[in-house]
Amino acid sequence: MAIAMFKFHSIAAYHEWLKDHPDGCERAVRHYLGEIRRQERLNAFLGVYADEALTRARELDEKRRTGASIGRLHGVVVSLKDVIAHQGHRMTAASKILTGFTSIYNATAVERLLAEEAIIIGRNNCDEFAMGSTNENSAYGKVLNARCPSRVPGGSSGGSAVAVQAGMAMVSLGSDTGGSVRQPADFCGVLGLKPTYGRVSRYGLIAYASSFDQIGIFGRSVPDVARVLEVIAGPDEFDSTVARMESSKLDLGKIDHNNPKKYRIAYFKEALDHEGLDPEIREAILGRLDDWRQQGHTVEAVGFELFDYIVPAYYVLTTAEASSNLARFDGVRYGYRSPQKGLELTEFYKRTRSEGFGREVKRRILLGTFVLSAGYYDAYFTKAQQVRKRLVDHTNLLFKEFDILILPTSPSTAFKHGEKMSDPIAMYLADIYTVYANLTGIPGISLPLFTHTNGMPFGIQAMTSRFKELSLLQFSHQMMQQ
Ligand code: GLN
Repeated sequence: MAIAMFKFHSIAAYHEWLKDHPDGCERAVRHYLGEIRRQERLNAFLGVYADEALTRARELDEKRRTGASIGRLHGVVVSLKDVIAHQGHRMTAASKILTGFTSIYNATAVERLLAEEAIIIGRNNCDEFAMGSTNENSAYGKVLNARCPSRVPGGSSGGSAVAVQAGMAMVSLGSDTGGSVRQPADFCGVLGLKPTYGRVSRYGLIAYASSFDQIGIFGRSVPDVARVLEVIAGPDEFDSTVARMESSKLDLGKIDHNNPKKYRIAYFKEALDHEGLDPEIREAILGRLDDWRQQGHTVEAVGFELFDYIVPAYYVLTTAEASSNLARFDGVRYGYRSPQKGLELTEFYKRTRSEGFGREVKRRILLGTFVLSAGYYDAYFTKAQQVRKRLVDHTNLLFKEFDILILPTSPSTAFKHGEKMSDPIAMYLADIYTVYANLTGIPGISLPLFTHTNGMPFGIQAMTSRFKELSLLQFSHQMMQQ
């Protein structure tokens, strides 16, 4: 079967094609299964559901033959980061500690994908418990960047990014606590959206840092990402942190190229002046901002004196939350348990957790426990909360004057495997541009606009104020079409 057949530019185009292809869903699934097999060495999948996906595809083809109307994600082939519950399927968070665990219910996002007739083809590799920026922290081996296999795909949702990058799924879901959708999207040259905190239910998402975590979307086009968001967003009785706003129709509208909408765009001067930023990325972004200015958008540099505090605040708060969230993995109820016999209970917990968790996860549990301990609570945890509050205030003021905030997504293009693994601080600092959106809860998207002279893709990150995804997606659509 010709591969080109499935290079659709959007889900809408696929649905058009399905009108003339009664066995189209089955053909699509066979195509993606073939791509997954062919590119197995990228290690983007931890589980592939070939028979199940084919059966579902045939049922959907059958449904179309009866003339029934089709769901918004009819036959769309999706893969899930292995931290999102899918009933009756394994879920490991790429950790040894969840060995043998099977989800007993669907995450709300998964329930909604299935209700709109999506086909879930498999689960994606990631950093253990979504902690990392390279996918090298997986207990099931690293993921390779399809553009250059000696480089990382980014993380933590590296497998989900590569699934879309290498054409092994049409769209995929990841999770973004501090950049884990936007940064791998940037490293792989695809779109990655983190919605507003509270837009998509976290029910069925394994918790890393609950006040930061959001399910995010990888895709190849803005309309596809918008369509998936429209389906998975909205109130959920199982997650009280989801806003009670009904998920609105994300109609991107037609772009009038002769008279495109004009935006008020800000960027942080400190962010683009930052010494850690690759000069080529700086030039590309400043160049694009200049183009936008020429086109009549307002583009202004704004000062942001809190810039140096955001990574420390992020790592204090998220590790604190993680140390509490990960306490549930004790080997008693599910998952891995130490094979050692005759241990008394505390010793059994210690053994199980020492053997079951990887190095980075342990580092974060220890760090989180430390910042919450009686003697240090005020010095670290309380301070970080104060920083977070100031960031939120600052952001609210910023979006009174501007529609869009622009930052790089990452200070560099994809690094080589192993390059940053021995230096956790250097690794954490690479999150400098993404954690802001999670600290403040605003939505952010990485738009794959550039290619570096080293051959790797990189993007630009756009953000808006909370719950303004429609405006963010319209902006993105306009800028991707230029
Ligand atoms: N790289 C960041 C971290 O390690 C982000 C992870 C994420 O968004 N899940 O915490």
